[in-house]
Amino acid sequence: MNSPSDAAPTPQSAMPQVLRLLDAAGTQGVLIGSRCRRCGATSLGQQRACANCAMSDLETVDLSTRGALMSFTIVHRAAPSWPGPVPYALGEVELPESVTVNGEIVGCPFEALHVGMAVELTVRVCGHDAASNPLVIHKFQPAG
Ligand SMILES: [Zn+2]
Repeated sequence: MNSPSDAAPTPQSAMPQVLRLLDAAGTQGVLIGSRCRRCGATSLGQQRACANCAMSDLETVDLSTRGALMSFTIVHRAAPSWPGPVPYALGEVELPESVTVNGEIVGCPFEALHVGMAVELTVRVCGHDAASNPLVIHKFQPAG
């Protein structure tokens, strides 16, 4: 049997079909998209078929790490599974690939949030898996 000391906890993507971690420490990541080789449409995550033309000839691509905040709301009553503080800002971010991504907006006072503001991808630990590995999820912060 493995003892806990056999393997150091390794950060894991909480959503591996959407977020790929770039470093062993789990401090950097990139969102994954699927681009259609037929029509060029890109969608978030690893997909089996194009959302635009339904063809299955897709390639996996890294999405832009910067986008624009298209809408947001302040969530005062979170789902029971929500691991973070409440209230929090939930934003809808449009990336240059015309892909829309939902995520928490961190590092910004609520009153400073505004539609159209430039944001960039960041990642944060949101919990742990059964093996005590940190689970990392995507969020957005004001673009530096
Ligand atoms: Zn297509």
